[in-house]
Amino acid sequence: MGNRGMEDLIPLVNRLHEALGSVGHSCSLQLPQIAVVGGQSAGKSSVLENFVGRDFLPRGSGIVTRRPLILQLLHANTEYGEFLHCKGKKFTDFDKVCKEIEAETCRVTGSNKGISSVPISLRIYSPHVLNLTLVDLPGITKVPVGDQPADIEYQIRDMIMQYICNENCLILAVSPANADLATSDALKLAKDVDPQGQRTIGVITKLDLMDGGTDAREILENRLLPLRRGYIGVVNRSQKDIDGKKDIKAALDAERKFFLSHPSYKHMAERMGTPYLQRILNQQLTNHIRDTLPAFRSHLQSQLLALNKEAEEYRKYSPDDPARRTKTLLQLVQRLAVDFEKLIEGSGDKVDTVHLSGGAKINRIFHERFPYELVKIKFDEKKLRQEINYAIRNIHGVRTGLFTPDLAFEAIVKKQILRVTGPCMKCIDMVSQELITTVYQCIDKLTSFPTLRNETERIVTSEIREQESKCREQVMLLIDIQLAYINTRHEDFVGFTNGQQMYTQGNKKVPERMTGNQGVAPPSSLIVIRKGWLTLNNISIIKGGAKEYWFILTAETLSWFKDDATLLQEVGPFGKKERGTKEESRRVQGSTGRGKTKMCHQHT
Ligand code: GDP
Ligand code: MG
Repeated sequence: MGNRGMEDLIPLVNRLHEALGSVGHSCSLQLPQIAVVGGQSAGKSSVLENFVGRDFLPRGSGIVTRRPLILQLLHANTEYGEFLHCKGKKFTDFDKVCKEIEAETCRVTGSNKGISSVPISLRIYSPHVLNLTLVDLPGITKVPVGDQPADIEYQIRDMIMQYICNENCLILAVSPANADLATSDALKLAKDVDPQGQRTIGVITKLDLMDGGTDAREILENRLLPLRRGYIGVVNRSQKDIDGKKDIKAALDAERKFFLSHPSYKHMAERMGTPYLQRILNQQLTNHIRDTLPAFRSHLQSQLLALNKEAEEYRKYSPDDPARRTKTLLQLVQRLAVDFEKLIEGSGDKVDTVHLSGGAKINRIFHERFPYELVKIKFDEKKLRQEINYAIRNIHGVRTGLFTPDLAFEAIVKKQILRVTGPCMKCIDMVSQELITTVYQCIDKLTSFPTLRNETERIVTSEIREQESKCREQVMLLIDIQLAYINTRHEDFVGFTNGQQMYTQGNKKVPERMTGNQGVAPPSSLIVIRKGWLTLNNISIIKGGAKEYWFILTAETLSWFKDDATLLQEVGPFGKKERGTKEESRRVQGSTGRGKTKMCHQHT
């Protein structure tokens, strides 16, 4: 490599990336690259766009980056983008680049806003860029919103870890200046894998948004939380600038003016801003590649040796021998099946300690996500109260009934049972998505046989989809079964009489987690609700969670209780309020299970 210019090192590694990408996993080398990490809205995308000088990254609320984007910037005379997944197609319109990223994200992650660690590779050739390879990763979220999986934080963390655990990966930790740096997600993550701060580069965004009178001088001078490679401050476009279509050129000018005129930063204005950051990154990545190159070369050589040996074996076969071809095909397919099974069923060989595999993720969906979804079902207490009241009255019609009609109980309960449909369907959705992601993981080994790969992908994913819809039907059927008939004689149904009996005799042993201090089941619960409540009990997310409300429905009254068994309200058959008796509130004290709503229904 003697007379090769230093500036060629990055493209060289890019070519290696590509070459290794096409041989698949059999050649596992950890190439030097820069991973961009940071909390959501820290300004990661803005920084990358400023490097390119173009708007080309999808924007919006929530997690926009849902697959890693390997962005290779290459200095060239003409400006265009090119994706690895549609090689040869030149994108000169950067809006189309944005659309393609979105489409390609959805192709693998599906429509349910999931994330996938299968990267998208995009090359941008431009006269305005310095050679640089960066990986844009999803922002760290803390609280799942809307449709996001409950374990989204772990999923994203896993994915980021995959990249930054690699000792050859520089970490570009992006933190906004208008939040406390000590709590920066980016720096926390970086510290986990790079405790000495050797390969972390700090970027502080939103310097323009700091409260008047405060500044980030101490951080930027690398005195507050020192990193070996230091911090660089930038000012990106604000949302208003973007909406107002302020172009990046103008933004870069404004950034420069900001640093030159700011009293706290003007002494170091030359070491601040996007262009400087870009130069530093180019330099540091190049140096980093140069440093890792020797070790890299010997690694490559030893792999080459091993591969040559393997190739030698193949030489004995004539490649066009049909028997040989069939054998290869069968071997590949078989290996795929074995790989897939290992990822799902788990296996003891080559245990991955960095990220969760398919099976373990599915386990998490069933044991953490699903219960969480169940708990999340909100009961509007007031509404439910009113519904019960109205149901009873409507069933009696013009007559004022003497007894609580079972029909009212059924109508209300059925409505509640039906609500488990949502979480069930979501669970199915996520599991099948995970299966598909796992398939992609295995299938990548077939990249040298594109037809086989595509055909396998098509067959396997459509099989999964088919089974998914069968599964949906089955689950709907189960729910229908529960709805069709409420078996009050079932041993799981603790009716009022039954519960009272258990309460007074105290002879039936029930698992401790179900009971309160008396060691017997509370006089409560319906089969479905109780089932949910049973599984939920030992999950930590709901420990100390939402207040629990429940009620006792009797012929005379409808009484509402809270967690601590205080009687909230009692409604007589005509809607008038009465105070509960001491006796009654004491009786309910036994129930400390953590369902959302428990029902107790007295048979009259
Ligand atoms: P990402 O989620 O980390 O990719 O963050 P984005 O780059 O999408 O930025 C999130 C929001 O913060 C956008 O509305 C940006 O316009 C805004 N933003 C990012 N950096 C800055 C900055 O330096 N100054 C100001 N005023 N706004 C910024
Ligand atoms: Mg982003």
